[in-house]
Amino acid sequence: MSADCIFCKIAAGTIPSKMLYEDEDVIVFHDIRPLAKTHFLIVPKAHIETLKDCTVAHQSLLGKMMLLAAKLAAEQGLVGYKTMMNVGREGGQEVFHIHLHVFGGGAVA
Ligand code: AMP
Ligand code: ZN
Repeated sequence: MSADCIFCKIAAGTIPSKMLYEDEDVIVFHDIRPLAKTHFLIVPKAHIETLKDCTVAHQSLLGKMMLLAAKLAAEQGLVGYKTMMNVGREGGQEVFHIHLHVFGGGAVA
């Protein structure tokens, strides 16, 4: 938990979100500024700033995030979809707590 991290606050329930899924390791919620008709974020509860900070110790967590993307996309009725993780400021990352984007159903105008 990082005190000034928005995704830690969402995981702790101190900031509201449109929650889709939660278990002991991850939370999943709809993006507040959706770039597609369906756009949700798969977020580990542990505060990890970027993919660059991950080691082999995070291997199963990262795999779990990918498999959850497929499971939740199917539950949302998405036949095809995109997954994306922005890494570092130069990679377009704005929130420095890792998250996997899932986009489906076409771009929002
Ligand atoms: P990134 O550029 O990969 O760091 O993406 C951060 C994403 O978090 C953006 O798509 C934002 O719209 C989204 N976001 C920021 N604050 C919130 C929030 N309070 N609830 C849901 N999504 C958020
Ligand atoms: Zn955090």
